[in-house]
Amino acid sequence: MTDNQVQQVVIVGGGTAGWMTAASLSRYYQKLNITLVESSDIGTVGVGEATNATIRRFYGALGMKDIDVLKATQGTCKLGIEFKNWYATNDTFFHPFGLYGQDVQGVSFHHYWLKLKQLGLVSDFADYSLGCTLAMNDKFTTPSPNPPSTLSIFDWALHFDASLFAKLMREFAEANGVKRIDGKIDRVELNPDNGFIEHLVLTNGEQIHGDLFIDCSGFRGLLIEQTLKSGYEDWSEWLLCDRAIAVQSELVSEAKPRTVSTAHQAGWQWNIPLQHRQGNGHVYASQYISDDEATSVLINHIDGPLTTEPNLFKFTPGRRKQAWVKNCVSIGLAAGFLEPLESTSIAMIETGIEKLRMLFPDKSMNQACIDEFNDMTKLEWERVRDFIVLHYHLSSRTDSAFWRQIKQTPIPETLQHKIRMFKARGHLVKYRWEIFQPASWLALYDGNKVYPETYDPIVDSFSTDYLSKSLAEMKQSLQGAVGKIQSHHEFLRQHVI
Ligand code: FAD
Repeated sequence: MTDNQVQQVVIVGGGTAGWMTAASLSRYYQKLNITLVESSDIGTVGVGEATNATIRRFYGALGMKDIDVLKATQGTCKLGIEFKNWYATNDTFFHPFGLYGQDVQGVSFHHYWLKLKQLGLVSDFADYSLGCTLAMNDKFTTPSPNPPSTLSIFDWALHFDASLFAKLMREFAEANGVKRIDGKIDRVELNPDNGFIEHLVLTNGEQIHGDLFIDCSGFRGLLIEQTLKSGYEDWSEWLLCDRAIAVQSELVSEAKPRTVSTAHQAGWQWNIPLQHRQGNGHVYASQYISDDEATSVLINHIDGPLTTEPNLFKFTPGRRKQAWVKNCVSIGLAAGFLEPLESTSIAMIETGIEKLRMLFPDKSMNQACIDEFNDMTKLEWERVRDFIVLHYHLSSRTDSAFWRQIKQTPIPETLQHKIRMFKARGHLVKYRWEIFQPASWLALYDGNKVYPETYDPIVDSFSTDYLSKSLAEMKQSLQGAVGKIQSHHEFLRQHVI
């Protein structure tokens, strides 16, 4: 190890972000001295139960197996999200992990489907997604590792108890040498010459020195904002929801392999089934509904008895202007928060850690690496923002002031371009650093009845009869495969509970 190499890493915060970061860094950088400071008096945000499929790659890289994580976290399987009342009241669509149909000759499946749709010769787009078909029939199996099996074309994620997941990460990190300090940080001392963070001072006077500081202190951004003044890019002009009420309830029916997101008059509600309980929350725009009304709406849409008191969260959708400043990198809520829709926050903790590993600095904190990190982070967050905005923008609802306001709310230029290209010829524009792949965009377009004017002309090189027969066979094989699969509940009973 040379003198210039980072030796002491200090992670501030022991929520999901802090412990995921500690687990990952301790796995890859075994010579680092890593200290994590958290305050049990302050606690963690305590929500964040739905994930994206990438979480399985994250813990897989730590050597953890799906079944073990499901067991340790009271987890259930998530094949995607069911969106109720989003496009219109009494309408439902599904956003699965995984693909629709099969691409032929480099042309995406949806072009073939579109031609047949225009001729009235095909059934719903969702019928060609194994993820959708499994989820809406409450079935679950793990994907076959042998493509091109019908059972290889979907993916899945987890619903879990966030505090149990953080505990799992903590056990891994501590077993790999991470030192934990339970204490409250009173102040942060900077080096007067270069403005780098030199040490933290706890309320008991203890000083914690480091070369690199990772701010996982949650919404407050103790280091990145309160100390280093990164600045915050506020996206509330595009995203109207700024509050959430969360509450847990008893699970009164078998856990479904999907998150349910139900749109309401001034926001939307999540229902997330775990093995031992259900997580629920109402995300809303405080300009259009009071906290008390939002709580009533939430409670009126929960089946089982409540097991916790409703918990209010206030947030400003947006991101830190600079996720990395001097010798401080922010990850998790300290880096920003859009809103809970599509469970993007933990996924962006994973990519934040990935980028940090890609550009892991030495003590000089080369500004080129910092700029690259900040640039990639900006692009990635903007792409996720656009995808979230899309959910609201495509809705046809006008039944409340909130939905009418959305109709008049301009959308980012990058998103406008994507929608225009899709409408023109079914083209799915992909910018750099997209977390949500084309299949996710297709799910949203189809769910909101947005279809292109034309399809790819290559499709016309196949006869209509041939296409129609091929798609019918595809659907039949998919339904045949799903018919043989056990229920999600049975899967959990056999392998997890
Ligand atoms: P926190 O959990 O807030 O942790 C902050 C840590 O910093 C704590 O340990 C605290 O003790 C410590 N700390 C702070 N100040 C000090 C101090 N002075 N001294 C010492 N320690 C300090 N994400 C998803 O991916 N899926 C979801 O379904 C989802 N749902 C959400 C719903 C809501 C309503 C909200 C608000 C968020 C949701 N999120 C979701 C986001 C998710 O909860 C967070 O990304 C995740 O929990 C990570 O939080 P964190 O670790 O950054 O912050």
